[in-house]
Amino acid sequence: MATSPTHKRAPLRILHLYPREMNIYGDWGNVQTILQRSAWHGYKTELVEHHPGKKFPADIDLVIGGGGQDSGQSLVETDLLAISDGLHALADDNTPMLVICGLYQLFGRFFKTADGHTIPGIGIFAAETHAGSKRLIGNIVTDTPFGQLIGYENHSGLTLLDDDQPALGRIIKGAGNNGEDKTEGAIYKCVFGSYLHGSLLPKNPQLADALIEAACVRKYGQFEPQIIDDHFADRAREIASRRPR
Ligand code: GLN
Repeated sequence: MATSPTHKRAPLRILHLYPREMNIYGDWGNVQTILQRSAWHGYKTELVEHHPGKKFPADIDLVIGGGGQDSGQSLVETDLLAISDGLHALADDNTPMLVICGLYQLFGRFFKTADGHTIPGIGIFAAETHAGSKRLIGNIVTDTPFGQLIGYENHSGLTLLDDDQPALGRIIKGAGNNGEDKTEGAIYKCVFGSYLHGSLLPKNPQLADALIEAACVRKYGQFEPQIIDDHFADRAREIASRRPR
């Protein structure tokens, strides 16, 4: 009987940050995509949830976090600061992470809300976010090292990257970080922040696989991908990219 290589037996530990408070516009789909594509590539996974007030889990291989209303961001504020050292240590150790919208903002230095309240962030990204006077809503397409990313944005926060902070992508259609400088998201090592909901990963399997590959290379020293039939994702990309803003 064929046996799978040893490295495929130890599960990848996927951490979902704040599934109750920070999980809107289908962001849960990013977790599902990582779990499903890992399985298709032949890797076992173990889903670990982190909730406010709980101990930060050990031995994490990949981190996913979603967006949330300003109220959701306030609910996780204290806990995020408490687990900041754990997240920084993982980020510095090349752990792949994807954080969307509300958590992306809090992976920067702070988010200043419309009522003047400042929600502190953990500063993995050299960036800050200030509430704008209008919401930036609509379909969005960006050009990134992972090809074109296609998604949907809905945020009031305007994110400004420091001069030395690389963006994840450049805007082809949409507003992105602030509607002005054509940047979208941010990258630190293998940590990706983005405003793209949709969910992002089902329609952008190339980014999902980059995250899985980074997790496998870090944990097992190699990644052995399978060929996956992406025709549904391709069709979704094609239709979404043709939608008006
Ligand atoms: N509350 C934040 C904003 O509007 C984040 C919104 C979101 O995560 N979609 O900027």
